[in-house]
Amino acid sequence: MKTYQGSCHCQSVLFEVSCEINMAYRCDCSLCIRKGALMVYAQETDYTLLAGQQNLSMYQFNTHTAAHYFCKTCGVYTFHKTRTKPGMFGFNAGCLAELDVMGLPVEIIHGAELKI
Ligand SMILES: [Zn+2]
Repeated sequence: MKTYQGSCHCQSVLFEVSCEINMAYRCDCSLCIRKGALMVYAQETDYTLLAGQQNLSMYQFNTHTAAHYFCKTCGVYTFHKTRTKPGMFGFNAGCLAELDVMGLPVEIIHGAELKI
């Protein structure tokens, strides 16, 4: 596994995550279709928030199971606790340093059908 350094745009929120990234995901649920972020997934236990706890805001909707975090200052979605993958966190692939986001194959997750 490789360890990636992650940050929001204004660098208030800093985190690191260890995972094997071979693929990025896009989701068509009502929130993700608006965000448009490419995501990668990792075990919650392989993720550490390094800074910016007080700068994180959290959004929930529908079943209020998933928790979508974003920076209060720059508004960038950083990561989310998933509903459909227990124990997993989703990460904004664009927040991860040294990741060739645009070079990754992209798979579509049909979150709209899952009623996330
Ligand atoms: Zn920020």
